[in-house]
Amino acid sequence: MTIVLATKNKGKVRELSELLSLYLPLKIKSLADFPQLDSLIIEETGDNYQQNASLKAQVIAEKTGLPTIADDSGLEVESLDNFPGIHSARWHAGNDQDRNRALLKKLADHQLRRAKFVAVLCFFDPHSQFESCVEGIMPGKIAHSQRGTHGFGYDPIFVPDGFQQTFAELTTQQKNTVSHRSQAASKLAQLLNEKYGKLDVSIETI
Ligand code: IMP
Repeated sequence: MTIVLATKNKGKVRELSELLSLYLPLKIKSLADFPQLDSLIIEETGDNYQQNASLKAQVIAEKTGLPTIADDSGLEVESLDNFPGIHSARWHAGNDQDRNRALLKKLADHQLRRAKFVAVLCFFDPHSQFESCVEGIMPGKIAHSQRGTHGFGYDPIFVPDGFQQTFAELTTQQKNTVSHRSQAASKLAQLLNEKYGKLDVSIETI
């Protein structure tokens, strides 16, 4: 079986590939293998992570004809009513650093810095229409400045519970032992192994 990983986010691709390969035989192909989808933009119109992940998995599965895994995720800051949540990738223009700077500014006067990362992974098989979604949550707090160079997105400002360092100061392997995405990936791998038996999969990224 071939599985498509429905994301263009290189950080997600790297982490999901490493995580899923812990549990399943793995072969990764790049976007170059699906040039017909280069210009495809999927509007994330869902009200929550699961709706968005499901939408992405179904669209890509239908376009490629292959079972697909999609990731929708975000950072939720408690004192900002769980903002930016599902809008994490888009609430502020610019790059990851700009969004980190803007979020730190919003929190400048806040002593309460509790936050959590949430990731939902959805698997969709276009042949059987079988769908399954799982969630992982990583609690922690927002640092006072950006620290570290690993990872992506909000990693430089997120200190996971149990650590002094931000996710960006940890190696990918360290992050993968605890992260929201790793929790979801291990649940999904277990589920797929139960459903399909010992999977012989290769994974393609778009
Ligand atoms: P989306 O799932 O495409 O809507 O984007 C989720 C956004 O949340 C990403 O672009 C990142 O900004 C952020 N995000 C999700 N997971 C992580 C993570 O593990 N580290 C850092 N940022 C993350």
